[in-house]
Amino acid sequence: MENTDFDIIIGILATPSRILVTTHSNPDGDAIGSCLAFSSYLKKKGHHVSMMVPDPYPEFLSWMKGHEEILVWSQDPDACRKAVEGAEIIVAVDYNNLSRLNEAGGLVKASGVTKILIDHHLLPSEEFNYRISISKTSSTSELVYNYIARANDLDLLDKDIAECIYAGIITDTGSLSYSCNYIKTYEILAHLFRFGIDGEYLHRLIYDTYSECRLRLLGLSVSDRLVVLPDLHTAYITLTRDDLQKYNYQIGDTEGVVNYALSIKDINLAALFIERDGIVKVSFRSKGAFAVNTMASKYFGGGGHRNASGANCTTSLEETVSLFREILPGYREMLKSVY
Ligand code: 5GP
Ligand code: MN
Repeated sequence: MENTDFDIIIGILATPSRILVTTHSNPDGDAIGSCLAFSSYLKKKGHHVSMMVPDPYPEFLSWMKGHEEILVWSQDPDACRKAVEGAEIIVAVDYNNLSRLNEAGGLVKASGVTKILIDHHLLPSEEFNYRISISKTSSTSELVYNYIARANDLDLLDKDIAECIYAGIITDTGSLSYSCNYIKTYEILAHLFRFGIDGEYLHRLIYDTYSECRLRLLGLSVSDRLVVLPDLHTAYITLTRDDLQKYNYQIGDTEGVVNYALSIKDINLAALFIERDGIVKVSFRSKGAFAVNTMASKYFGGGGHRNASGANCTTSLEETVSLFREILPGYREMLKSVY
């Protein structure tokens, strides 16, 4: 069910307060983009704003205005704790459950202050008092734009905020290749360009900043670590801890790798399994009607969107991949035709 408490939230945020804006672990362009865009806007409205994320964001997002103010729990838990304890209102952007804040989630959960959600994932948690939860949209960044518009504050937009919203929309739609069939998204993009943003330049900042190691890790993923199961319309890639070490893995280096598996003709489901310290990070992608979030939550304790989901598993890499291979035949018919 969609929740659109726009007007209640606009009413609550009409009075200047100490606000903490939070976003999810393993933050992507929409997480950081919506967090910064909403925070910059709230500051213009007279609020005192802090931002918190559980773990570091990739280097290719570190051009966004204000990013250096974001507190990172894994790097400075004391400052984060202070920010949570000092907040009068906590806003969650681009995630639907406090568990996605990892360790910081418990502290936020325990806080008795008003919690507001702005997000586009299905199944928003009851942990939030008020919710703007709309799944039929490109991104949370688009919802932030909608909020500002609904509050009659479009005159507060500026180039920096426009760039953050643009980055969120572009990264969450694979540069307008999925979740992008909404006319409204293009109307918003057109408006953002009126602030003088340079889409070509921003695209380069986000996508053309590979290190040599990152590109070679992609090469390894595609040439040696890809398994294709044509009968099941599935392809997957596994990366071990040694692979990451060998290619001097930096945060964000595996971003987008799973899409190469999905780009094969007639492959409707793709997965990427990455062995990290103590966990296996799984990314799922699908085409058309195949709802990969259902699979992610049912078998891997994860979740996400219909065509882009993920999970963090405590099983070993081998066990996680085995489970995936075991459950696939059960989806054989669904994977045959997704359009
Ligand atoms: P990615 O594969 O890019 O890490 O994640 C794709 C999407 O899956 C994210 O935007 C998020 O919606 C969802 N996701 C990723 N990891 C998790 C997880 O551990 N738990 C849940 N519930 N969702 C996840
Ligand atoms: Mn998003």
